[in-house]
Amino acid sequence: MISAVKSHLGALRYGAALMWAATPGLVVVSFVLQAVQAVLPLAGLLLLRELIDALTVALGQVDPASALAAPTQYAILLGVVGLCTAALTAISTYVSSGQGAWLNLHVQELVHAQSVRLDLAYFENPAFNDSLHRAQRQGASRPGQVVGRATGVLRGGLTAGGVIVLLASVDPVPLLILMVAFAPGYLVGIRNANRNYAWHERRTGAERLAATLDQMLTQLSFAKEVRAYGLGSHLRDRFHTVRSVLVEETIGLARRRAVGDLLSQVVVVVALIGTLVWALRQTAGGAMTVGELIMYYGALQRLVGASRQIRGGVTGLYEDGLFLRHLREYLEMPPEVAEPTEALPLAPLIGQIRLSNVTFSYPGGTEPALADVSLDIGEGEVVALVGPNGSGKSTLVKLLNRLYDPADGNVHWDGVDIRSLGLAAYRDQFATVFQDFARYPMSASDNIGFGDVDRLAAREDIRQAAKRAGVLETLDGLANGLDTPLSRWLHDGAELSGGEWQRVALARAFFSDAPIVILDEPTAAMDALVEASIFDRFRELMQGRTAVLISHRLASVRGADRIYVLDAGRLVAAGDHDALMEQDGLYAAMFRAQADRYR
Ligand code: ADP
Repeated sequence: MISAVKSHLGALRYGAALMWAATPGLVVVSFVLQAVQAVLPLAGLLLLRELIDALTVALGQVDPASALAAPTQYAILLGVVGLCTAALTAISTYVSSGQGAWLNLHVQELVHAQSVRLDLAYFENPAFNDSLHRAQRQGASRPGQVVGRATGVLRGGLTAGGVIVLLASVDPVPLLILMVAFAPGYLVGIRNANRNYAWHERRTGAERLAATLDQMLTQLSFAKEVRAYGLGSHLRDRFHTVRSVLVEETIGLARRRAVGDLLSQVVVVVALIGTLVWALRQTAGGAMTVGELIMYYGALQRLVGASRQIRGGVTGLYEDGLFLRHLREYLEMPPEVAEPTEALPLAPLIGQIRLSNVTFSYPGGTEPALADVSLDIGEGEVVALVGPNGSGKSTLVKLLNRLYDPADGNVHWDGVDIRSLGLAAYRDQFATVFQDFARYPMSASDNIGFGDVDRLAAREDIRQAAKRAGVLETLDGLANGLDTPLSRWLHDGAELSGGEWQRVALARAFFSDAPIVILDEPTAAMDALVEASIFDRFRELMQGRTAVLISHRLASVRGADRIYVLDAGRLVAAGDHDALMEQDGLYAAMFRAQADRYR
């Protein structure tokens, strides 16, 4: 119990700290505003009492009209209090909307920073994606609510404190009864919060599914097939089924919330009426003036209002605490591919990258994607990886980029375990065209420049890279040349063919000055002539850099210095083309199968 409260308070502190970090100035301003707003109702009550009593005195005068000066003054002061309240409410709304917007940005930026820090493996894990979804959905609003609600509790507490002193000065007993009547409201609020939280936990998967279906129905990348296969109404039905269950559950939660709230309010109203009847009797017996009765009634109303505010704040804070754990959980996840505590300096490769007995399995995979693989990639060499689908070639590329770490075995960079090198410095050594390379919905120039983002403005180098990849002419032919956005989704955007996109990805790798280029099926979508032009000039294009090439077209890897043959995650043969043909194994069989088809 104590530890639950502690972790709860911890989460709230965390939320408040986020808010403070986002807008420290506005937090102070809003606290001050709330404090002033809290005492204004008390001033109003006191003025009202004075006004009524002054009026009672005036009515007892011979000439009541001439004795109205005092009550009139109080009436004017009440008006001033009303104006101040209105002005402060307006200012508070303004301040809190600014606070909310900045906070939203701040949290979004934290989520982004963490998202790029975390490993690729996380993004392939459904539980992680649930966590990210929750952080994105709840993360932006909750920290702001913590501060908003805490100030609400403060304000309600100040008002309630003042009112309680006023009421207690008359008689504390009815007051105590009323306070006890507030208790069920808190219990109901806490139960509602627990239910709401548990529901969100349970339904994150369904919410994500609904969001995915929504994307399929509305996004360009699916639009073609959705039409060609007539998937529209089927996907809409699926969306409706998932969403309508969520809607019904939301309504069910709201219903239970409303019933609980209502019942707890009934208790308060009954207690309130009892207290009022008591006050009426007091006035009839002469123990209270009419002014005091009216103030007493006003004070009771304020107390109920303040108590509602405190209850809403406290139970809301309780709920925020539950949800903030999500955000914190996400923002504090440690990357698995870790930075060394003290990175060794990275020297340019002079010998080789050596994989020794590398084994790697994807989470949930039954067979390892790579099993006991040992191979060398020598500096300046062109090394090819070949093998059937699913034999582990792309996985090896990801391990080389240190997107994952092997479960067993290790990778050495000139004898240094890559896990002791700085991660960013190490990854900078590679320019990789992944099989599923990214197609950035940005300008052509950005798409190439992202190969070395520090030189994004090096226009001439970007053109050179495009030229080497054989795509410059195509890009120059677009409406705005290299500045044309490469997506029909964007204004004035253009769409490239699959082969043209591959050449853009290749240009991106060429633009990078990384010493090792890795190309995973870089020409699969290119026409035969373009492909031939690339492989005929392959070494020239690589400009002496180390190259790792994966290709199913074995004619294109024929000239490699070393060819590694993988099968079902194992290295089954190595050597140059002639040696492998002579061995007459898997490589020779694959090579002949392709060659025969061209005869
Ligand atoms: P290749 O590039 O040789 O076609 P991969 O390295 O992509 O093969 O895949 C090797 C094995 O690992 C395959 O069985 C594949 O299904 C599995 N695999 C690849 N990527 C993932 C992933 N992200 N999560 C789980 N399994 C994966």
